[in-house]
Amino acid sequence: MSDEGYDHATVERRWQEAWDDADVYRTPDDVDDPTYVLGMYPYPSGKLHMGHVRNYTITDAYARYRRMQGDDVLHPMGWDAFGLPAENAAKERDTNPRDWTFDCIETMTDQMESMGFGYDWEREITTCTPEYYQWNQWLFARFHEEGLVERRDAEVNWCPECETVLADEQVEGEAELCWRCDTPVEQRELEQWFLKITEYADELLEAIDDLEGWPNSVRQMQRNWIGRQYGAELDFNIEGYGPVEAFTTRVDTIYGATFFALAPDHPISEELAKEDDDVRHFIEHEADPEGDEPNGVETGLTATNPVTGDEIPVYVADFVLSDVGTGALMAVPGHDERDHAFAEKMGIEIKPVIAPEPDDWDGETVPDAPDVSEDAFTDDGVLINSGEYSGLDSETARERLTEDIESAEEATQYQLRDWGISRQRYWGTPIPVIHCDDCGPVMVPEEDLPVELPEFINTTGNPLDAAEEWKQTTCPDCGSPATRETDTMDTFVDSSWYFLRYVSPGSEDAPFDLERANDWMPVDQYVGGIEHAVMHLLYSRFFTKVLADHEGLEHREPFTNLLAQGMVQLEGEKMSKSKGNVVSPQRIVEDYGADTARLFMMQAAQPERDFDWSEEGVQSTYAFLTRLQGMVEDYVADQPDGDDDAIASYVDAEIDATIAIASDEYDDLTFNKALRETQDLTRTLRQYADYTEPHAETYERGLSAVVRLLAPVAPHLAEALYDDLGGDGFVAEADWPTAKIDRDRVAKRRRLVENTREDIRDIVEVAGIEDPQAIDVVIAPDWKYDALEIAIESDADNLIGELMGESHIREQGDAAADYGQDLQAEREALTMSLAPGAEYDALEAAAWLIEREFEAPVDVVRADEADDSVLRNAEPGRPAIEIED
Ligand SMILES: [Zn+2]
Ligand SMILES: [Zn+2]
Repeated sequence: MSDEGYDHATVERRWQEAWDDADVYRTPDDVDDPTYVLGMYPYPSGKLHMGHVRNYTITDAYARYRRMQGDDVLHPMGWDAFGLPAENAAKERDTNPRDWTFDCIETMTDQMESMGFGYDWEREITTCTPEYYQWNQWLFARFHEEGLVERRDAEVNWCPECETVLADEQVEGEAELCWRCDTPVEQRELEQWFLKITEYADELLEAIDDLEGWPNSVRQMQRNWIGRQYGAELDFNIEGYGPVEAFTTRVDTIYGATFFALAPDHPISEELAKEDDDVRHFIEHEADPEGDEPNGVETGLTATNPVTGDEIPVYVADFVLSDVGTGALMAVPGHDERDHAFAEKMGIEIKPVIAPEPDDWDGETVPDAPDVSEDAFTDDGVLINSGEYSGLDSETARERLTEDIESAEEATQYQLRDWGISRQRYWGTPIPVIHCDDCGPVMVPEEDLPVELPEFINTTGNPLDAAEEWKQTTCPDCGSPATRETDTMDTFVDSSWYFLRYVSPGSEDAPFDLERANDWMPVDQYVGGIEHAVMHLLYSRFFTKVLADHEGLEHREPFTNLLAQGMVQLEGEKMSKSKGNVVSPQRIVEDYGADTARLFMMQAAQPERDFDWSEEGVQSTYAFLTRLQGMVEDYVADQPDGDDDAIASYVDAEIDATIAIASDEYDDLTFNKALRETQDLTRTLRQYADYTEPHAETYERGLSAVVRLLAPVAPHLAEALYDDLGGDGFVAEADWPTAKIDRDRVAKRRRLVENTREDIRDIVEVAGIEDPQAIDVVIAPDWKYDALEIAIESDADNLIGELMGESHIREQGDAAADYGQDLQAEREALTMSLAPGAEYDALEAAAWLIEREFEAPVDVVRADEADDSVLRNAEPGRPAIEIED
């Protein structure tokens, strides 16, 4: 194992201390618009796992890269410290959630430091401290003032045995049993607090189009979650109850409506439940909106179809949701899958009223009905069995019917619902409300914030409800005795604005310093798991928009670029404690060091992709770092004294090429590609030193480039090697290496050299040359480069004519005509080459490679020194080859 490698433990400890002493990762308050790089803050659950390590290595590597590029960088870390697991852990261990949480934070902080993550710890935030959560309360009050908070009834899980509300996580299994006493859980209506995110539904949806730095998959998941649908609202008459409003996106199918369905908590359903035992039983015990199949109960009532006058049966059904649309719908089993499943189960008629539009449809003939007995036909099509509307296409029919039905109106519906933030748990932010018998719910005045959590009470029910002394207070409005709200906030509230707190973590009079937030926000690069694609990211966008509308924040989106990192797997499976297939980051750090763990992960795959952990991969990464350390040591101990010859110039060009490509890849966060180039350069340097005595300046430039290109990912060893090479200060603060050429030129040069070697091989083989004596590589004449450029830029039909319009091309006679024809033939595929002088230099530098391969001297010849007969075969990017045998 590590016996063979370098002493990673000493190296890593030394540089962690040095960074710490020098405050290398500190972001002063007065910097101007730093590059803000952020990993989603962790839940302090005990120990870092591989997913954390990958997430935070990505942000750390990018933050380090930007710092070396000369940016001021903001790279903070904090703790998503509230939540039910801490409460459960405290109960199991007979401690309290606060102590347990801070223990976990301490452990994880140490682990982060041992990974070499460069955070500004002065900006650390911990959401379970009153200094943080008071601002959740303050924001709640501000949202309330702006009409964005509402109190309304909502269903909660209720254990009749424990007489308490249960969180979803406390309801166990298919049978939905109480986690403590195994009693079947019931649903109860309780008053709950909601944030009105639906007020922002349109903007949250439409602004997704502009989030160009986000993965398309995440953008689509958000669109689906918001789920805006255009349709119509229209009334069906229910006997004894009058007109009942229903929403449909498919009013064109109204002739196929064979039943009508009400949500279990629709006012009519509730009315019926008082007298009808079956309905009541269904609502209380059977309805399961999250179940796999639709359930319902017949009411005996009928509804009148406003178009056909048909009387159709009315059901109470659990797939109808009261908070989406109107809580009532016309059901069309022929053309909706869920309605179809319900109709099959209940034996309700299924009637086709839309037919697929035939390919050769004349726009008038009514097509044949589709078979909808097995499956619904859900596409738009042509209306059939629809009276005067038969023969219309779906879209026209929708417009016509919405106009013709007296009660119908165009309407927009959303899947998105208001955000219920009430949790009946202890370990969260107390909702800052006081309940007064006379005044009702009253907000706690700002000067009385924070409402701090009382000591933890280990109870079966809601701990805050059991904190009798804490609960009793006086009404801020009338002074009468009153009680505190005993629910706490969903922890997603904490994470909806924490990225703003980092700009001024100590702010005592505001959640964040507005001026600085306006300068420093938005987050330039956010990195986290795909499981947060919807809720966390949507809530953060919502908060940012509210703060922009009401608190003067000048940004409406929090995260410019988003990266959702893939999973670290073991043998193709997600690592999980319960499966026992977990690789411990701590063990890897002990055996191989943090640099090896980080480098292995970053080179194994693009950050978005899942990849398999491999012990062999880790070992070979460790061997690579050990070899690199040896190369630097050897160089420092015994400086070489080679010539600045053609080989040195080739190596020098390769250094430039590597820097150009790796920098580009770092910009795109494709670390794996940047690292592959860097390892290739390391190999080239090693071969160079094996082949000849290297030119010291060139070789050192190469080593220095490798060290700095690796520094974002393997920061400790890079720091040590940079020091060995005599670098000033820290590599963490050093300049990123620069290339004398750009990536486009690198590609052209590599292609030129590769094509030339390929051509020589072909000639040697075709001509059967066994022992080449000399090889001439002849650069094409200048006029051919001009002709190529004209051909690329020209859109004339007659290219030859255009070329002959240039006198210096025309005077080449037949040669110009021949080359013109070649260009014409390949016109679609032409690409610009390097200039003739640059081609000459590139081939000169690569000549040693050719000499080594063919064991013959190589002469690179300029066009003005070559014969016309040879020049005929020379083209830009493809020199002529002359071989003497
Ligand atoms: Zn119970
Ligand atoms: Zn009062």
